[in-house]
Amino acid sequence: MAALNSRGWFTIVLAIVLFVIGAFSLPRLEGDAPVLTGPEAVALGTAGVELELEALDVGTGLRSIQVRIVSGGGGQTIFDETFVGNVFSGAVESGTRRIAIPLDPRALSLADGPATLIATARDWSWRDTGAGNRSEINVRLEVDTRAPRVQTTTGLTYVYRGGAGAATYRVDEATVRDGVAVGDRFYPGYPAPGTAPEAGQRVAFFAVEVHAPRNPEIRLEAEDAAGNIGTASLNVRVNERKFSEEHLNLSKRFFDNVIPPLAEQTGVVALTNVEAFQQINKDIRARDEARIQELIASSDAERYWHEPFIQLPNSQVMSRFAEQRRYFDAGREISQATHYGFDLASRKAAPVTAANRGKVIFAGDLGIYGNCVLLDHGMGITTLYGHLTDFAVEPGAIVERGQSLGRTGATGLAGGDHLHFAILVGGTYVDPLEWWDARWIQSHVEVKLAALSR
Ligand SMILES: [Zn+2]
Repeated sequence: MAALNSRGWFTIVLAIVLFVIGAFSLPRLEGDAPVLTGPEAVALGTAGVELELEALDVGTGLRSIQVRIVSGGGGQTIFDETFVGNVFSGAVESGTRRIAIPLDPRALSLADGPATLIATARDWSWRDTGAGNRSEINVRLEVDTRAPRVQTTTGLTYVYRGGAGAATYRVDEATVRDGVAVGDRFYPGYPAPGTAPEAGQRVAFFAVEVHAPRNPEIRLEAEDAAGNIGTASLNVRVNERKFSEEHLNLSKRFFDNVIPPLAEQTGVVALTNVEAFQQINKDIRARDEARIQELIASSDAERYWHEPFIQLPNSQVMSRFAEQRRYFDAGREISQATHYGFDLASRKAAPVTAANRGKVIFAGDLGIYGNCVLLDHGMGITTLYGHLTDFAVEPGAIVERGQSLGRTGATGLAGGDHLHFAILVGGTYVDPLEWWDARWIQSHVEVKLAALSR
């Protein structure tokens, strides 16, 4: 083997040096740009929002993020940050970086209208003559700092405690939520029947809950996509009324025959039948009411009914709305509950008729209400039929006023064959007497709706 001369050695060393430099710098020349993610569009209201962006660079790591807003009035940089790192070893911190940028239209002097938010990110690559790979996303901003105008078209309305009312009003732009707020409860509005949706004519049925505080604040609210909320007062007078108190002395037969099977069915475990009743009347009742709220949460915008509601034919009223019930066992008070419906007794296994035209939203077992049917009458109005023997309808079906839903019975928490009938307005139990009354329907509903479509 011939010995290498100095030139030969130089070539070998140079090759090694170039190889080492190349091995080091090739990854420094990676071409994968950072991945930037953010929302496609943001509606920006008076309250502003916090814009969240995510950036990740798996190569040399994230170098910088810059955010600009460009609108008719020009551009401004609202975020500019370079992260710790250098061109030889890249970013110190790897992984996804999340940044939250407050967007306050007033602080940023943004005028109402469209604007574009441009976010750019760079990495520590040597590409782009050392500036790094660049990625960019655009977020459409719709600046809207004007609250929807909401205006009542209803005169003075009288509402009874435990009763309902209808409010008509107009909104001047598209809303994501509008309706009547009664204290901390909200009753959504619907497009007024017979009017064009773009006219902004709305109707909301609302209620004053039996146990609502005195003189609850009642007002109209309308919220747009940007989160701006417009309000207006509503001229409502709440008439107070007292509800009767009823003492129920529960029999041994009731504790021995009704409670054990119901306890088993509802999963209640207790040492005595009295304790089982106490749990059923409190915890299972609360669970069932929560279930009902879930089932009726979204009501159809269509008004399915056009006549007054009807009471179960040939029935006798056994118990009225909102009786304050106190339950006794051998003279000792063991439980309390508000009775949020009417108990109607007819003959045994009598046909249960739909109080009005509507859509079946539930037909099944509902705890204390036993076999139960729920009808959605549209625009937030629901009727409930409890303790049935069996069903004649299935969920999804449209039923006519007076159509049979099943037969009365004593399923659930019932001492004997009867129908428990209830009406809910926007999820609040109200007195059915109003809805059974043709004159009340005329003066509280029809007159207001007719004024709109004129
Ligand atoms: Zn009842």
